[in-house]
Amino acid sequence: MIKFLDKKLFRYLSVFLFLNSSILPVKSSSALAAWAIKTDGTLELRTKSNTNLKAYFQKANLISGDRFWVDFPGELKNPRSIKGNGPVKEIRLGKPNKGKTRLVVEFKEEAFLNPLTWRLVGLDQNRWRIKLFNPKDPFKKIGEGVVVNRIRNIKENQKLIHKKKSDYHFLKLPDVKQNKFSVIIDPGHGGPDPGAIGIGGIRETDVVLEVSKIVKKLLSEKSVKVRLTRKNEVDLDLHPRVSFANNMDADIFVSIHANASRGKRRDINGLETFYYRGWRGRLLAKNIQKQILRVSPGSPDRGVKQGRFYVIKNTRMPAVLVEIGFLTGRLDARRLEKTTHRKRLAYAIAKGILEYLYKIG
Ligand SMILES: [Zn+2]
Repeated sequence: MIKFLDKKLFRYLSVFLFLNSSILPVKSSSALAAWAIKTDGTLELRTKSNTNLKAYFQKANLISGDRFWVDFPGELKNPRSIKGNGPVKEIRLGKPNKGKTRLVVEFKEEAFLNPLTWRLVGLDQNRWRIKLFNPKDPFKKIGEGVVVNRIRNIKENQKLIHKKKSDYHFLKLPDVKQNKFSVIIDPGHGGPDPGAIGIGGIRETDVVLEVSKIVKKLLSEKSVKVRLTRKNEVDLDLHPRVSFANNMDADIFVSIHANASRGKRRDINGLETFYYRGWRGRLLAKNIQKQILRVSPGSPDRGVKQGRFYVIKNTRMPAVLVEIGFLTGRLDARRLEKTTHRKRLAYAIAKGILEYLYKIG
């Protein structure tokens, strides 16, 4: 059932949808699972099943442009805003009040909208669609997560359940002997050296520092002693990184980098892990490579390789250099922009390290 309410006072155009109302606990997590504004100007949403949505439109005022928003039950964890393109100025995800999630699409002044024709349509239990505009110029898709419903039949459904299970296992990191191991994590570059610069100006130094810090946190929780070669944006030469690790007499050294392709080719994506020598280095590289691939579906496996990078060549312990994706690649860059993906990569690297430490005992 779709109902339009014209609240003249506020000049709101409201769309209420009620489908199989179900009562959600107050402190539930956000019912919004994924969203995308596609190249044809259609907003697609994926929610938890049986969700009640409320959609609103407000004309531009002195403070902001035309805005369309949808309210979802459940509280959003990380409020954030994403830059738009074409007629879309910005997308904001927020919590208007406790226990709620709001997705706001704000339009630019020159966006010519016709909200009277808008219909938020439920495609099935958990998918929604509304056509917001007809792009005059090519519009770049914006979104987070996978909107497409992959449940086509029972077989597919089972696959999905299976996938969820393994995701759960993925979050469970293996235990290793407490307070036995020490690990050096080396976030590449820093300070005046930003490393690779990718699509939209995304900088290697920022990405690898955030990933490295999460790896440190995760390993510390397993009582592994972890030191970072740099904790902030400092200019750190390669030699001090190596001598730091050698002086610490660490068990392993892991340098974290992100790639850039020559000519900034957007079609080049993928992950690779380098070691310099020894079966231990190779084993560590293999463990990490396997895990980072698992969290980067579709991104090519560029393999475990021998490399003569200074930091892995001159450290005395098993050492690897991991490239967590191409900042210049369309697929990888879109992911590396997001904290959620950086967290996944950090989990993967931590898991690879822990599995290695477990194996060598
Ligand atoms: Zn680098």
